[in-house]
Amino acid sequence: MTEILTRRDTGLDVGPLRNLLDGDVVAPGDVEWDEARLAWNLAVDQNPAAVVLAESTADVAATVAFAKAHVIRVAPQGTGHGAAAIGDMSDTVLLKTERMRGVTVDPERRIARAEAGTIWIEVVEAAAEHGLAALAGSSPDVGVVGYTLGGGLSWLARKHGIGANQVTAIEVVTASGDVVRTDWANEPDLFWALRGGGGSFGIVTAIEFNLFPISQVYAGILWFPVDRAAEILKAWRAWTEEMPDEMTSVGRILQFPPIPEIPEPVRGQSFVVVQTIFSGDSAEGARLVDPLRTLGPVMDTVMTIPVAELSRLHMDPEGPAPGVGDGGMLDDVDDHLIDLFVEQVVGSPILSAEIRHLGGAIARRDSRHGAVDAWEAPYLMFAVGIAPFPDARQAVESSVRRLRDMLEPWESDHTYLNFAESRRKAATLFSSASYHRLRRIKAIVDPTDMIRSNHPIPPAF
Ligand SMILES: Cc1cc2nc3c(=O)[nH]c(=O)nc-3n(C[C@H](O)[C@H](O)[C@H](O)COP(=O)(O)OP(=O)(O)OC[C@H]3O[C@@H](n4cnc5c(N)ncnc54)[C@H](O)[C@@H]3O)c2cc1C
Repeated sequence: MTEILTRRDTGLDVGPLRNLLDGDVVAPGDVEWDEARLAWNLAVDQNPAAVVLAESTADVAATVAFAKAHVIRVAPQGTGHGAAAIGDMSDTVLLKTERMRGVTVDPERRIARAEAGTIWIEVVEAAAEHGLAALAGSSPDVGVVGYTLGGGLSWLARKHGIGANQVTAIEVVTASGDVVRTDWANEPDLFWALRGGGGSFGIVTAIEFNLFPISQVYAGILWFPVDRAAEILKAWRAWTEEMPDEMTSVGRILQFPPIPEIPEPVRGQSFVVVQTIFSGDSAEGARLVDPLRTLGPVMDTVMTIPVAELSRLHMDPEGPAPGVGDGGMLDDVDDHLIDLFVEQVVGSPILSAEIRHLGGAIARRDSRHGAVDAWEAPYLMFAVGIAPFPDARQAVESSVRRLRDMLEPWESDHTYLNFAESRRKAATLFSSASYHRLRRIKAIVDPTDMIRSNHPIPPAF
């Protein structure tokens, strides 16, 4: 039986690797060390054995060969948005792909190709030039690869499913050092595992996926005073039950701190908001949103907008930020849940607590799908707060934990890998059949467990 790598604390001599790379290697003690080990999420203190700033597929392959020779692990990271769950990295080289940028769009085939370090806004803007849209998430600077390998929940998901299931090919450096292009015909098991199974199966150097002929959407935010939170969220939940797949929406409590980074009209204010995104005809969108409008929002920004503007609809921070959050899928959202949700969130240090409406294409199975076939849960919850210093961190952490504990009776048996910011049992991130297949594939492609994901899959022998 192959042995799983064991932790190795000894100092690592990265000199030989430095000489091999187009990019850079930074080791503890180097002047660039503190900057090199930063994640996008500044609340995460990453202390790997070394950091590689790769610039090419050859750099990735050389890092894998070096790690193999030194019996250490490699953790690929695009931006560090998902760094919170990664844990102790003392036996691990952090392989950053942020310099491996580049997007090409083939407008005829409606396919985009993104290199490993590409962030979503780069794809969204390149696609929009051709009247096309990608299944991008709520944040402009989340990494395309990390997001897609973990699933990928976009504003268009109820119509087009999760991002991982629109992937057409993935280029990867495997744990054995091979450079492989995977698709349905070539290494189909590896291709299946990469599409939703997370970053345990190889180091992705480029990814290709479908785009959709959408140039504008009817979308925006309806803002209400936070003291109407329970009423508005209950009305929103009932409204979601009637919506077609073209309509995706979020019910959300926002509590903005009184800090200069927040724009004047909302600084220091709290709201309950409903975000609606309709990818059909605007007149039909307006008709569907009308029942929410009759609730009398204090601000209403729902209108026809270019699809690229969806990248900023959710007002996610651009650039590194210290955040502590966590989430889970919900089997149901009823009035009792909403009352508890509001009671726990309003007045707490949580900045944003949201419930996203799932269903539609997200819940439909297809034999061509990857490791995440379909999610049955109709809603998903995520709550986050800013944690710039330890006291704030503790306060946010315990508020988020209390909220999750309170919602536990409604929480689905398995959750969404990308919205899990704490380490979960890997089995809870997938259906039972997918989890066992993932473990068998991991044992074949990376039997020594060299490639480390933020949500690792243990090999099964
Ligand atoms: C502000 C914010 C908004 C978000 N909005 C959404 C959203 O709307 N929808 C959604 O689905 N998710 C969303 N997420 C979650 C996000 O998709 C995950 O955090 C995802 O892991 C981020 O990918 P990344 O590459 O940016 O992060 P990273 O932390 O760099 O990567 C996360 C993991 O992906 C894997 N990985 C990254 N690059 C590679 C590679 N080249 N090869 C192999 N594995 C790799 C690794 O396992 C890594 O640990 C959001 C997160 C934040 C913080």
